Amino acid sequence: MPPLDTFRPEPGSLPARDKIPSRYKWDLTSICATWDDWSAGYTRLDAAIAAFTAFQGTLAQGAERLLAAFKAMDEMGELSYRVWYFASLQYDEDQRNNDINARRQQVQILFARQQQASSWFNPEVLAIPLETVRGWLDANADLALYRFAIESLFHEQEHVLDEQGERLMSYAGRFNSVPHDSYAALTTADVKFPLLTLANGNQVTLTYGQYRALLETNRNQDDRAAAYRAFHQAFADNQNTYAALYNGVLQRDWFHARARGYTTTLDAALHGNNIPTSVVENLIEVTKQGVEPLRRYHRLRRRVLGGSTYRLFDVFVPLVEHTVRYPYDEVGAWIVDSVAPLGRQYQQNVQRAFDGRWIDVFENSGKRSGAYSAPVYGAHPYMLLNYNETLDAVFTLAHELGHSMHTLLSQQTQPFVYASYTIFVAEVPSTLNEALFLDLMLERARSRDERVVLLQHAIDSIASTFYTQVMFADYELQAHRLVEQDHPVTADALNAIYAGLLEAYYGDVIDTEEVSRVTWARIPHFFSTPYYVYQYATCFASSASLMQGVRSKAAAERKDAVDRYLDLLRAGGSDYPMNLLARAGVDLSRPDTVRAVSAELDSLVCRLEAELELTMKDTKDTKKIVLT
Ligand SMILES: [Zn+2]
Repeated sequence: MPPLDTFRPEPGSLPARDKIPSRYKWDLTSICATWDDWSAGYTRLDAAIAAFTAFQGTLAQGAERLLAAFKAMDEMGELSYRVWYFASLQYDEDQRNNDINARRQQVQILFARQQQASSWFNPEVLAIPLETVRGWLDANADLALYRFAIESLFHEQEHVLDEQGERLMSYAGRFNSVPHDSYAALTTADVKFPLLTLANGNQVTLTYGQYRALLETNRNQDDRAAAYRAFHQAFADNQNTYAALYNGVLQRDWFHARARGYTTTLDAALHGNNIPTSVVENLIEVTKQGVEPLRRYHRLRRRVLGGSTYRLFDVFVPLVEHTVRYPYDEVGAWIVDSVAPLGRQYQQNVQRAFDGRWIDVFENSGKRSGAYSAPVYGAHPYMLLNYNETLDAVFTLAHELGHSMHTLLSQQTQPFVYASYTIFVAEVPSTLNEALFLDLMLERARSRDERVVLLQHAIDSIASTFYTQVMFADYELQAHRLVEQDHPVTADALNAIYAGLLEAYYGDVIDTEEVSRVTWARIPHFFSTPYYVYQYATCFASSASLMQGVRSKAAAERKDAVDRYLDLLRAGGSDYPMNLLARAGVDLSRPDTVRAVSAELDSLVCRLEAELELTMKDTKDTKKIVLT
């Protein structure tokens, strides 16, 4: 008999939060026992911020003083986590709650004060000669803990200008967001979404969400074609405006790079994390050489779908009709099983997340959408889900647990100053957890259709988090090179770059569609955060490369790979990401690391081919091949 408080959401219904049994809701008392407790923390933080100003002008006095200031910074930081997350996690439970929203905003106001009150800190540290600070670090063991934090501060300093230069840069800073703000206005505020009439007579407004859903679920190719063309035509209609805005992004980046003495915009973007430009260049080069498994996948899809044409609007349709619902109470045990290769301790930690109510599982009215893992220092990670029993939801859970285990191990091992990690390593554990979970699911799948669905899920996720992101990085690099080499930036020039990339990746396996070349105009990342998306791809490559060791048939090799991987998680942000990954055995500047992804994709496509070939009747005419 199931336990009395078992709960499964009715599809399409939105329960009130108090109708959901508490074991599916996170327990925030590990952060603060009560609101009184929270208020006391808030008051302490407020006082610590006020007291911190006493350090101003005194850092150069010596090692002891500098150490005391760093410790005071850490104390404020630790307290900030508790004060912030207790309010913000409760706000996300029901964002209609004005009372909690007010407290959350109160914390934000305090944070702004904290920032102002400590803005003098970095410049004052940097005013001390580096040699002097290094002497202190060698002589004072407690201060030596902060060596990496201090060294990376000085590393960033390399491209800081003199006072007059920095003042000019700060004036120019006011223009920085103009290209993106205009882009957002054009694509969101002022946009007129096309209205489409489907074959069945229904009408849809093509917002981005509707458009994606249509491509993923509508089995009528004419509908998908009409949606794709209408959606992209809206961008093509304004392509000269988009090109002018993007030129603004490129010119801004090039201005910053030159003003701060970098050779290229890529150099400028990678300097902070100390990543060599060869990493991005290698990633792009090797990925382009490894597109064959991707093309094979699309050839297979073309045959299975059986239409006379196969275009970009056909790439998301499911290969088989098969929906399984995954009740939350069942998948917890699977997820714990799936991480067995990472050892008993890791499994126990995952189990703790379920037993200790670290997870807020189901959607309820007013709850924030999406999913995340919140790294609450001083308590433990918390996860917000909107679990709806789909395969996507199960993989999202595995993904967020990967982030949470990273947080847990890092916070258990590192001092506060290094407990958080950068995006450059963050998506390694999340994607590795997903890969482990896929292995288990494939082993346990009961039918061919279920295996096909799983394989398609895994392949699509490699296509979108790896291949597409590398293609985007390639686009950004080529576009930035236009301005670096004094070439004009026009819609034609940008369209040509994008068309060239589609050709390089898909060759002739996907039939071309004229309007596809304007796709660059609808990618918000290009306008908001240049040179960012490649990090998803490098994380994916790192995780695929680590998985080769974790899956190794040789026990010693496997143990070694797992140990190195867990050390990476424990290392948090204690060094530059390239160094952390190198210690885990991942060298992103080597072609082999990147090739791990195409090898992984190749093996998945082989399995999918095998599953589908069994049931495909080969009538010698590829157009008539049908799936029975
Ligand atoms: Zn993630």
